[in-house]
Parts: sequence; structure tokens; C-alpha cells
Amino acid sequence: MRIVMKFGGTSVGSVAALQKIVEIVQRYKTDGHEVLIVVSAMSGVTNLLLDSARKAEQGDEETAHQARQTIAEKHASATLELLGDTPVRDEVLAQVNVLLNEFEALCHGIRVLGELTPRALDVIGGLGERMSVPQVAAILSHYDTPAQGVNATRLIVTDRRFGAAVPLIEETATHSQTALQPILTAGQVPVITGFIGATQDGIQTTLGRGGSDYSATIIGRAIKADEVLIWTDVSGVMTTDPRIVPEAHPISHLSYSEIGELSFFGAKVLHSQAIRPARRENIPVRILNTFEPDHLGTLITAKASDNGRAVKAITAIKDMNLIAVQGPGMVGIPGIAGRVFTAVGQSQASVLMISQASSEQSICFVVPKNQAPQVTEALKEELSREVERRDLEHVQSHGEVVVLAVVGSQMQGTPGVSGTLFGALGQAKINVIAIAQGSSECNISLVIRQTDADRAVKLLHKEFGLDQPE
Ligand code: ADP
Ligand code: ASP
Ligand code: MG
Repeated sequence: MRIVMKFGGTSVGSVAALQKIVEIVQRYKTDGHEVLIVVSAMSGVTNLLLDSARKAEQGDEETAHQARQTIAEKHASATLELLGDTPVRDEVLAQVNVLLNEFEALCHGIRVLGELTPRALDVIGGLGERMSVPQVAAILSHYDTPAQGVNATRLIVTDRRFGAAVPLIEETATHSQTALQPILTAGQVPVITGFIGATQDGIQTTLGRGGSDYSATIIGRAIKADEVLIWTDVSGVMTTDPRIVPEAHPISHLSYSEIGELSFFGAKVLHSQAIRPARRENIPVRILNTFEPDHLGTLITAKASDNGRAVKAITAIKDMNLIAVQGPGMVGIPGIAGRVFTAVGQSQASVLMISQASSEQSICFVVPKNQAPQVTEALKEELSREVERRDLEHVQSHGEVVVLAVVGSQMQGTPGVSGTLFGALGQAKINVIAIAQGSSECNISLVIRQTDADRAVKLLHKEFGLDQPE
């Protein structure tokens, strides 16, 4: 089989993890599989890079300087143990050093200009993966698994949406096949940078935070992989975020739709768009634990399975704002809804949820907190006359909210799910601000106050019996 494996930040972030990668890759190679790997930056590195760039814009170059030391040290210590004091290690560290020079020069430029563009941020943000790749490739080769580093800017062609670029399918397929096939034919393991791509004219882009998952499925689709394995630090997709609920359990099987809803509504274990390329080509995806490689993790395929549970998982996406357009004019003015949607669309915000009161007196949108001002502005501008004439009461942004998503394909046929859901929240005096039945039938999403979020997740997790293993 042809298998694309992605190793996340913690999976490349320590000596122990890097040793596991060698073991895992060797095992699959010995079993006769063709293996390609996609790697993230060492854990913490992307945050350091992005934070430094933002500080540089405010005139602070010291943060970048310190970040450089920290990152250099991470790579130096990981390689010392695994490669020894060898010329191979020197070569890896020299490559890391070149990239760190680039990093400091970019931060310097940003400080001098006092301006950080999305394009510059993508160049800086992607440096961590470019440092991780030569390191992982050298380690694999050193342990008798010939490997070759590949920069994904040669493979993944994207549009120009810096910070959340979208891949162009045809171009990516052609480039990936041309670049990767010779490496595979030579019996080597391509080690590919996650997170980044490039526009048609070669400008580096990123696929959004956590984007290495997406890189893996994009490459998987492009080279017609038989499976994509996402190696991370938990044993699969869990019933909820284990940091909020320690009693969460891994789920053995999910459908593309179910994981699509979970990741869209914030389950960090998979990037929100990552399932799409796999789904298009019907490629099975497994979420596996690098530190416990024999655990079966979660298998994701097209068909939903019945594990006896109506609700399989719960997730919450934080730092959202709810924007409401309200007033009697919502019913009376022809075309008003259309204008509202157009204005929101033109504001370029990513809308997570739309909900309309049945009385048609209000329409509300949930958008990330940092995008709320631009949406509110766009709406106020579009609707200024109506507000002035008091056909509309107001366009209002409600403070911090979360979208809670309750996901499971069997919810449809199971009576009483909403009863349990709203009953439990009501008893706990958690106010539900808005409700939407998700885009697919396997999701109910609710808006609640951020301060209620963890309590609600814990409560519902227990209420739906998810604290028991499958
Ligand atoms: P990686 O660096 O391997 O990409 P991430 O930190 O991006 O790893 O994603 C894995 C983390 O996602 C887990 O450690 C866990 O804390 C968090 N997480 C949030 N929700 C879930 C969930 N439903 N199932 C599993 N992990 C989750
Ligand atoms: N390193 C990138 C990030 O931290 C991409 C990833 O880890 O998937 O967002
Ligand atoms: Mg991740």
C-alpha cells in the first residue's frame, strides 16, 4: 500500500518521539508499504516564530532574538542524541541556522517597516517545518531508512489566501507526482514539510494553524495514497477534548461527516479542512498515537457505524462572537435577508453558524471574535438607513460565546436526544443563546456563553454516557 503519514509537533518534538518515528516508518517499510511522511515543526516552534513576527511589528526585536536561541537549542539537543557529534548533524544544524538567519532578517525588516503583512507572516510561520524536515530526513537515513527532504512549496499549489490558503487540485497532483515518484522509485522516504504551500508564482502560503494534517490529506489525494495516517499525541479522536474532560475515551470509528463536523467545530486533533481531500477520493484516514503505536486509534471512512450511541462526541469552539440583526423590519423589508447575507459575505469573515428566529425578527451569525468588528461594520454600513428609520433595532455583537457541537450519525433516528440535551443544560441553568442543526444531519450546534463552556461540555459528556468506554 501507499501510505502518507503525518507526524505532528509533539511527534517530532523530542528525542523519544523522533525515535518512535524511526520505529514506525521502519515497521511499515518492512511490511512492504510505500511510505511518505509529512512533518510539523517541533512543538512550540510555530508559536515562537509567529509571536516574534508580531512583536517585531511593534518594535520589539528582542523576542525574535530569544526565539532564535530557543529554536536553535531545540534542534541542537534533539540531533545530538540521535545523530551524535557527526558531519550529518553539522549539516542539519547548518541548514537550521540558514533558516534562523532568514527569520531574524525578516523580523528586522518588519520592525524597520513597522508593518507585518499576511504574506510575510506566512513566510515566517512556515520556517519551523522547513527546519524540521532536514532533521527528520537525516535521522531516518542515519538509522538505515533512506529518506529525502522535500519542501511542499514544490508540491502544494494554492490560491493567495495567506494564512488559510486553499489548494488547487490539478496543479498539486501534477507537481506532487512529478516530484515524489522518483524518490519513491528510488526506495526512499520523502519527508515533506507540513503546513506550507506556494501560489502559482511561487510565493509561500500556509494552510492555517494545525495545517499539517491538511497537507497530509492533500498529498494523499494528489498521489493516490491508499491510506493517510495522522500520528499525534493521543490515541485517536476522543469523545471530547481530553484537556477539558480527562474521562474522555478514544472513538474507534467515525465517518467523514462526523469528523468533518467535529474538526470544523474545534476538535483540535484534526485541522478543520483536512478530511475533505480524503473524502473526495474515499481514502481511509487513521488517527494514531506516536507514543502508543499499537493502539488502534480512530479509523475514519465514508460509512458511519453504529456504536450504540446516538451522540458520539462533543466539541466546543471558543472565542466566538454572535452578531445579531434584529427588529420588525426583518419581516417587512423585501430583500433584507439577502442584503444581510451579502454584507456578511463581503466582509470575508468565516461564518461558523447562522441562525434565524422563527418569527423572522432576527438573524444571527457566529464568527471568530477577531473578525467580529469587520462583520459588524459591514452590516451597519449596509443597514444604516433601516436602523435610522427604526425599521431595524440594531446590529449587535454579543460578547464571548462558544459553539458547542454534539455529533453522531445515529442522532437522527434516536428520539429524545434534544430533550436530553436541552433538559440537562436547563437544569444546570446554562442559557442557550442560539441553535442550529448543522450542515449535515449528524450535528446539533448551540451557542452558549464562553464562561459556561467547560461546564456544559463536562455535563453533556456524562449525560450522554461518553465517560464509559465504547
Ligand atoms: P499535533 O501536534 O500532533 O497535530 P495537536 O495538538 O494539533 O497535535 O492535536 C492533538 C490534541 O488535540 C490532543 O493532544 C488533544 O489535547 C486535542 N484535542 C482536542 N479535542 C480532541 C478530541 N476530541 N480528540 C482528541 N484530541 C483532542
Ligand atoms: N506547525 C503548524 C502549527 O503549529 C502546523 C501544524 O502543526 O500542523 O500550526
Ligand atoms: Mg495539529
